[in-house]
Amino acid sequence: MIKVVFMGIQGSGKGTQARLLSSHLGIEHVNVGQILRNHIKQNTELGKVFKTYIEKGEFVPDKYIIDMFEKDDHINNPLGVVLDGFPRNLVQAQFLMDGFHVHHVFLFELESEDIAIERISSRRICSACAADYNLLSKKPKVEDTCDLCGGKLIQRADDTVEAIQKRLTLYHNRTAPLAAYFEEKGILSKINANHSPEEIHKQILQILHIDPNTPFYDKKK
Ligand code: ADP
Repeated sequence: MIKVVFMGIQGSGKGTQARLLSSHLGIEHVNVGQILRNHIKQNTELGKVFKTYIEKGEFVPDKYIIDMFEKDDHINNPLGVVLDGFPRNLVQAQFLMDGFHVHHVFLFELESEDIAIERISSRRICSACAADYNLLSKKPKVEDTCDLCGGKLIQRADDTVEAIQKRLTLYHNRTAPLAAYFEEKGILSKINANHSPEEIHKQILQILHIDPNTPFYDKKK
């Protein structure tokens, strides 16, 4: 059982890495932003609330996020989990450390905010299956069309210049300071997110003492 947290500035590629690690280990990848967007897509009561915050680039209030955390089976999967997009502030970090055993936190850092903005504004997602694309680094084979399911590719409602700026400011003010909190607990590794996805994946496996050829986590190391 392994619980890992991926934190990082928007556009740092933490979602890509979370997918790679979770599929290597056969454990859950919990993408909190995606869970919230699924509520919006299904037009649930909660989804209507989440929409008002997300489209403005604001955090969804902690009470909803924590409630979701307490109830969601995926998040509490006994096999383990890669948490992507949680925690984002000190309240959430303390909640996590009080109730869950976290093995490791990875912080993805980019050399400049311009790179983050460029990457996010080139991001597209599939409106049907939510697969991720990027017009700079991961283009679909056919323009505006998902390689996997043929769905139409769209820009996320919060990937507008205004909402991106707000999310970056929130990241600097509320999320980035968590690095010191986890560093003090001795479970933080900083990752240079400018490297290639393959290199970063290898580095993460090394830090976690996972053999690249064997999906296995050795807790003794
Ligand atoms: P990004 O990291 O690029 O902002 P995400 O898909 O991870 O994108 O999150 C999208 C939005 O979902 C956030 O801007 C925020 O509104 C909301 N959200 C995601 N995770 C959390 C969280 N842990 N706490 C509060 N709001 C969250």
